Amino acid sequence: MINKDFESKSFNRLERVRGYTKVNKRIDMRAGRITDQNSFLVGNLFVTILCMARILSIAILRSTGLFLNDVSRASINITTMKASPTTAKISGQLLTVVPTRPSTNPQVPTSFLWDGGYVKTQSPIPGTSGSTEHVIIVNVPGFLMEPINPEPTFIRLGHDVNSDHFLEINGGQTTWQVPHDALVAACELLWAKALEAKLPLKSIACVNPSDANSFPYQLSDGTSAVISVKASNLLAASEGKRITICPLCEAKVPNMRSHIGQHILCALSNTPENVSLKEPVGSVLPCGFCGRSGLPECSITIKVPANGPPVWETKCIYQHTFKYGFAETGSKNKPCRNVPLKCALCHPTLPPEPGKSTCRTPVVSVDAVWRYNMVDHILNGHEEYSVPGHRVSGVALLAVVWENIRLTDLEQTAARIQKEHWQVGQEGDKENVPSSGSRTRKRPGLESAASLPSKRPHTSVQPLQFARTLIA
Ligand SMILES: [Zn+2]
Ligand SMILES: [Zn+2]
Ligand SMILES: [Zn+2]
Repeated sequence: MINKDFESKSFNRLERVRGYTKVNKRIDMRAGRITDQNSFLVGNLFVTILCMARILSIAILRSTGLFLNDVSRASINITTMKASPTTAKISGQLLTVVPTRPSTNPQVPTSFLWDGGYVKTQSPIPGTSGSTEHVIIVNVPGFLMEPINPEPTFIRLGHDVNSDHFLEINGGQTTWQVPHDALVAACELLWAKALEAKLPLKSIACVNPSDANSFPYQLSDGTSAVISVKASNLLAASEGKRITICPLCEAKVPNMRSHIGQHILCALSNTPENVSLKEPVGSVLPCGFCGRSGLPECSITIKVPANGPPVWETKCIYQHTFKYGFAETGSKNKPCRNVPLKCALCHPTLPPEPGKSTCRTPVVSVDAVWRYNMVDHILNGHEEYSVPGHRVSGVALLAVVWENIRLTDLEQTAARIQKEHWQVGQEGDKENVPSSGSRTRKRPGLESAASLPSKRPHTSVQPLQFARTLIA
């Protein structure tokens, strides 16, 4: 099911977009007539959202059939058509469009022009090994369509298009164009409507074009023109596929946790990103899988068994499995050590009772804190402690807690953090001292507090210090 958290942008944005007027003068390009402003006719143009290989894209279609309660109509009132729930259905042919060349003037937006063509697909001829190509026709529910009223355009007058692309325009030199930003707004609006209607992802029509360049529509640099990254990622997740498009920078990445971790470290250290982020890193305790804040599905819990790696649980759609031990240590290829941890201050491992060598604490799930959020967590949740570089006053952090916070040289270098913004170390800390020769330390403290077996005795100093703060 589609998730409600991807809430809608306002309707108004679509209507404000240039060229995307509400249906006032509807021009039927074939007949050249202006039709009744309240009805949608067979032959009129509309946009909807379609899937292609788990990518959700805007699609421009020419309607070939209109149905109300499964009865074919020549026209349908637009309000009736778009109502939700609706019994109105619309079928249409998927059109090919070509982008204008990017202008050197940023005031001139990219537009898409109809080249007179249709997106086609191959289908097998029954009983033979051959196949035949035909125009893709899709059926969509009325509420998932938006009528469009594109601007007529003279092809020869436009210097920003290659007129060779328009050989399929029969007889004429005119076509129509739709601005890129109108298509972006329409895609967001239609996706929001699909969410609102709790439309199962599977019911959004899928197409399989024979020419992969024809759909989803592409910009002149070959990138997808109008797709919903969030929707596409949900589609992948709904099929149990691992999501590979970063929700923040929209790059394709092999390891989301590791990649998002670098965005978070950049944000924490005010290091400028190499790429422009479509969405900034969440400002409050960002999720280690998606970098966003405050989404209920991103809350994460952890269970730390006496033996074996911790077990975490989240409903973030960007989650994926990873080897906890490796991730916690970090490596040259995957330096990011942002893993969910059990806060040793919220959930102290108490020393064994007198006369017993071990302490039996039940293994339960508790709220986890991502390593890169641990500083904020302690600053706000454990005000009695000092945090190097952030808060001078307070009790020094226990070594096990500091190990949960400490960043390695490797991960700070990988996030391109300038040395003067590197994490301030705590006393007794070796690695961040420049003269340190050893890059990897193998000592018990490297393990997080969470993964320390509960039977391991504490040093004599720590429990005392701990007990004092617990009483206070
Ligand atoms: Zn990214
Ligand atoms: Zn998340
Ligand atoms: Zn805590």
